[in-house]
Amino acid sequence: MIKKVAVIGGGPAGMIAAATASNRGKEVYLFEKNDKLGKKLFITGKGRCNITNNCDIEDLINNVVSNKDFLYSGFYSFTNKNIIDILNRYGVETKVERGNRVFPKSNKSSDVIKALEKYMIDNKVKINLNKEVTQIEKTDKSFIINFKDSTIETFDKVIIATGGVSYKQTGSTGDGYTFAKNFGHEIKEIKPALAPCEIKEAWVKELQGLALKNITVTTYVNGKKVFEDFGEMLFTHFGISGPLVLTMSNYINDYRNNTIKISIDLKPALDDKQLENRIIRDFEKYSRKQFKNSLNDLLPKKIIPIIIKLSEIDEDKFVNQITKTERKNLLNILKNLEMTFDRFRPINEAIVTSGGISVKEINPSTMESKLIKGMYFAGEVIDVDALTGGFNLQIAYSTGYLAGVNC
Ligand code: FAD
Repeated sequence: MIKKVAVIGGGPAGMIAAATASNRGKEVYLFEKNDKLGKKLFITGKGRCNITNNCDIEDLINNVVSNKDFLYSGFYSFTNKNIIDILNRYGVETKVERGNRVFPKSNKSSDVIKALEKYMIDNKVKINLNKEVTQIEKTDKSFIINFKDSTIETFDKVIIATGGVSYKQTGSTGDGYTFAKNFGHEIKEIKPALAPCEIKEAWVKELQGLALKNITVTTYVNGKKVFEDFGEMLFTHFGISGPLVLTMSNYINDYRNNTIKISIDLKPALDDKQLENRIIRDFEKYSRKQFKNSLNDLLPKKIIPIIIKLSEIDEDKFVNQITKTERKNLLNILKNLEMTFDRFRPINEAIVTSGGISVKEINPSTMESKLIKGMYFAGEVIDVDALTGGFNLQIAYSTGYLAGVNC
């Protein structure tokens, strides 16, 4: 008899799982509580969807932060090329940007969602929207699924692909954790990953809206360096965000209660001597101007008042009166603009959820629960997470594929 499979969640993990299982001859029903598929997918990559990363499989694995070994089988079974092939087949042309990030040529995440929907329809998945699962029960041979609309249906297998708990408005409200917990699964502590940071120093808020490119961020926990990278960041009304900061957040996640200092090198292309020469040149050019009018060639306008304040040089002082010590002070601030981490923004503002269903209780080659036969997990609901660059979506597709093939 044809096996009946329920896939809970119409995100990337659920959609790939459903199409794959259906393609292998199962009768597949996908249940999504929203009135449309892929609400979170829609907002990925600022609406452009960083589909995956065009790197080697080993690099896909290296960019996973939690439980990378668990993903070997998934990444090798369903690769970045596989998802690109499917999307290409369904009319989404792709392009590769900085850092091997893959995007749709149209820059529209909605095109990715449409393609995945079509992929499911072609594979005869029965898509059910506005259908929220409230409870899963198990008899000897089957799963009984209860829905919010008070209906009940029976299935041979169930794939839980309900996502994490960040950006709850997209539908990812952590239901899968409850379902799994009710069956005895351990849920590893839920924490924000790829999260913006609140900063203690009040001056940071004055920089709200300023995006810095080509800078280096170095982070120290109790004086020990834990992170350093080059790229872009953004100042916000609460502190800092942007690609570099989101990546950094993963490196300080376990040290949240320690003293964490974040240092920005505003001029990483210049060493101390080169920067000193540069400042001297600018100071010669503006020798008859006041200090506050001498930094326009060197820095974005918005940050100048802050740098002046931190340098403790009188802003009205004429440049030709600035002492060597004061100049050195300025140089130090440009190379080491230091701030203190306060806390992460709430988990709802994190890009991904770290923690979730313990990987120890899931077979990494099949995604089947080691505790409950016939129950599978896929995507962010599992205790896996990765850096920015398309890796988290690749986790969703690869684990979804394994669940779909093996159910
Ligand atoms: P989700 O996408 O969260 O999907 C789960 C689905 O399950 C939801 O549609 C939800 O409504 C449904 N559901 C939940 N409970 C139930 C229930 N009880 N009954 C029925 N349905 C239910 N990753 C990248 O790789 N590239 C990016 O560019 C990127 N950008 C991001 C930008 C933002 C702002 C955010 C928040 C995340 C971004 N991510 C990105 C991360 C990525 O979106 C997620 O890791 C990925 O969507 C997880 O897929 P999933 O299918 O496991 O879960």
